[in-house]
Amino acid sequence: MAEMKIRRLQSAKALGATIRKFYEDAWAEKPIAWSVATANPLADICTALGIRVVYPGNYACICAAQHLSEKYCSIAEGYNYKRELCSYIRNVFGYILAGEGKHPMGGIPEPDVIVSISNSCLNYLKWFDAMRLHFDKPFVFLNTPHRLFEHDIPDYYLDYVLEELKMCIEQLEKISGKKLTEQKIKEVAHYSREQGKYWRELLELNKSVPAPVNLSDLANLIFIPTSLSGTAHGLELLKEAVAEVRERVRNKVGVIPEEKRRLVMFNIPPWYRLGFVDYFAARGCVFPFGNYNRYLWNTQDIDDTDPLEYLVRKGLSFGYDGGYGSTLAETLYSCMGDRLAQDIKDYKIDGAVILINKSCKIMSVGELDLATLLREKYKLPVLVIDVDQAEERTYSDAEIKQRVDAFLEMIEV
Ligand code: SF4
Repeated sequence: MAEMKIRRLQSAKALGATIRKFYEDAWAEKPIAWSVATANPLADICTALGIRVVYPGNYACICAAQHLSEKYCSIAEGYNYKRELCSYIRNVFGYILAGEGKHPMGGIPEPDVIVSISNSCLNYLKWFDAMRLHFDKPFVFLNTPHRLFEHDIPDYYLDYVLEELKMCIEQLEKISGKKLTEQKIKEVAHYSREQGKYWRELLELNKSVPAPVNLSDLANLIFIPTSLSGTAHGLELLKEAVAEVRERVRNKVGVIPEEKRRLVMFNIPPWYRLGFVDYFAARGCVFPFGNYNRYLWNTQDIDDTDPLEYLVRKGLSFGYDGGYGSTLAETLYSCMGDRLAQDIKDYKIDGAVILINKSCKIMSVGELDLATLLREKYKLPVLVIDVDQAEERTYSDAEIKQRVDAFLEMIEV
């Protein structure tokens, strides 16, 4: 196979050092919060109160990227965490139960508080509750109702979550020993909103032909608005990434020199094998977007004039504008229909790769129907393969390459 030069973003390459520093620095700070990695306003409140936030979900990705998922998942399974559980959970419990030793990025400091929210999946809820039991630390929980069909957020939802948020703030103020000031809350809401704007611009820029960024870099860059939410540092990093991408668009520089096909990926990419994307790139195929990075985080602009209302709406709006406020439904075809139709057109998509992910049932439910729809309604060639996001034991390189090769032959690249 001819080698195709892949132009990775400098800003995405530099992120490795940023992530390492993020974890190293955390050991020198206190108190520490472990947060769910969705749109969690409690994480922003922690930042405003000087509580350092780390994200076990992100740490699970790092364990997988460093090819330690076999080790950590096996340890967790030895303690009866079932193989059917999401591999993020098994990686993190494996890390916790492994105890002291050498761990990726030096490990994550134990929590002084666990901050959770109900806009995540049910696995997340039970996982964080299990960590509360394990560490026996305060558990601060924000209950955000889901909507069962698309409509604006009703006022009584806003009122309810605002009251919940105020109670959570009181708990977090006690843990931090500080009072939440108006200036601090304004700052985190502002940075969070601005990060969202730059993230969306990044995805908009990737509608250009040739595509300036591939999905592997987008997958890495999502670390910024998720794990550095509400921080000036995160905003600066995203601005740098956007500036680099604008420059590429201006000069018509694509991530690969000769773009032949533009594909969309469904489900979470395999963190231990992001080079999977490069395998397609080597044959002239780019992924300008995936449902994972386009339909979940920072999908909409929320007014931050009233920062508390901003945070309430942020928690209630996880997923897309007018969506459901949860991971539960955002990735189902029946929910993303019109948006997906528009994106297939705007991103000039020629085909799709659907990952069936045994860990993430939520993102995998309905994917075979989606494949049928994409083939029949949009006349797109579709490849369906089994790939877990953070469980390397189930990945067969030879088998996947064989399937991918057959697909690439079918789309004539
Ligand atoms: S089941 Fe899916 S949404 Fe839930 S924690 Fe695992 S990967 Fe995330």
